[in-house]
Parts: sequence; structure tokens; C-alpha cells
Amino acid sequence: MADTPRPLVAGNWKMNGLRGSAAELTKIMSGAPEVAARADLMVCPPTTLLATFASLVQGTPVTVGAQDCHAEPSGAFTGDLSAEMLADSGAVAVIVGHSERRQYHRETDVEVNAKARAAWRAGLTAIVCVGETKDERESEKTLDVVHQQTQTSLPDGANAKNLVVAYEPVWAIGTGLTPTPADVAAVHGFIRRHLETRYGAAGNDIRILYGGSVKPSNAVELLHVPNVDGALVGGASLKADDFLGIARAYLA
Ligand code: PEP
Repeated sequence: MADTPRPLVAGNWKMNGLRGSAAELTKIMSGAPEVAARADLMVCPPTTLLATFASLVQGTPVTVGAQDCHAEPSGAFTGDLSAEMLADSGAVAVIVGHSERRQYHRETDVEVNAKARAAWRAGLTAIVCVGETKDERESEKTLDVVHQQTQTSLPDGANAKNLVVAYEPVWAIGTGLTPTPADVAAVHGFIRRHLETRYGAAGNDIRILYGGSVKPSNAVELLHVPNVDGALVGGASLKADDFLGIARAYLA
């Protein structure tokens, strides 16, 4: 049997955190060595904190990622940030295609694909999010939606270093609801088959994270599902104890 990828537990802080939140990062860094033998840890703070956090984590097992990027390397795009700028600030990865970007900024799969390629151009890992809405799940379209999103949002030429896929059912984000382990297994297995068909052997090593209401109390159940190679954590990543509590699922 092929080795499974090394897990990644990534925290998406969204639009939360001020300079004082460095104290929470420091707590995460103190607890990181315990889990670092089994899993990678990443914190994706708001961009205002990126450079500070990147210098704080130097020499620790924690890395820092960003939450979005523009597809162009530079230019007249007021308020936007290029992947190159994020890399220059110390990010090693960037989340693209999060459902909040797809919903509030009307981002399409084609745009997400361009952002993922921009991430690669800047030497970053693209964490590409996919997932169905409540209506889509209820009308049994989950696999169709995930197929369309993976087919179009993921660029050609992916490998385990430049791509992480995050399956995040929209209805599970911030709601306290989660799919059953069997439902998670079905979607992650489906994504794995897509990655293998598309990228060959590399597709077996690309990490597929589960995201949506992961907390310490459900982490063991969700993170031990086949083809779940870690978690993308929103709300629970804002508290070091909860974030580390989730990562400790890999010590169980
Ligand atoms: C997210 O938005 O990426 C997420 C998983 O949020 P939460 O953990 O709060 O559901």
C-alpha cells in the first residue's frame, strides 16, 4: 500500500486578529513540537499580520500562509495583493477559492485556477478549496459540483509540493454541522481518484484536507477518515488550545 501524505493542520484566521494576537501564535508555537513529529502546522492570519507572524515562526515547526491573492504579479489593482507580495512577506502557501471568496466576491473556478497558478509562479503552495452548498448536497449534486470545481479550479502540473486541496462543504463552515465520516470518505475518495487520474503517481501524494466545523471533540473521528490528510480550520484555529487540540488527533 502506498504511504499516506504527511498531514497538514492549517488555521484560516479569516478577518480576525490584531497585533496583540501574536500572543496566540506564541502559544501555538509552544505546543507545536509535541505534534510536529506527526503533522505540519500552518497559520493563515490576515495579511496585516503576515510578515510579523512569518518572522515569529522562524526556526519553529509552524509555517505561515495567506488567505487569497490576485492572479497578476503587479499592476493597477487597488487594494489587491499579488502572490509575489505574500511570498515576500514570508508566506509559504496561499488559500485560493475559499467559499467566502466564491460567495462574496463571485470568484469563478477559472479565476481560482489563475490564482493557483499565480501562487506557483511566486513559489507558494496553493491551497485550493472546493465544496458544495446545502442545496447542492440536498439535491445529491455533491460529486458533480466537486468534479466541476476540481476539474476547472486545479491547474495542470500539480504535485504534492505545490498543491493542497481542501474539501469544505459550504454548509459545514462555521455552523457546527459536519458530514458523517462516511460522507467525508466518499468525497475525499472521489477527489483522490481525480488527482490520480489527472496527475498520475503525484496525485497520490497531494494532501486533501477536510474543512468545516472541525474542533478538538470531532477531530479524531474526521481526521482518521481514509484520504483525509489534515484539516483546514476556521473558528477553532483562533484559540491555540483548540487548534493544538485538533492537531493532537494525530497523536491518538
Ligand atoms: C473555513 O472557513 O475554512 C472553515 C473551515 O471554518 P470553520 O472551521 O469555522 O467551519
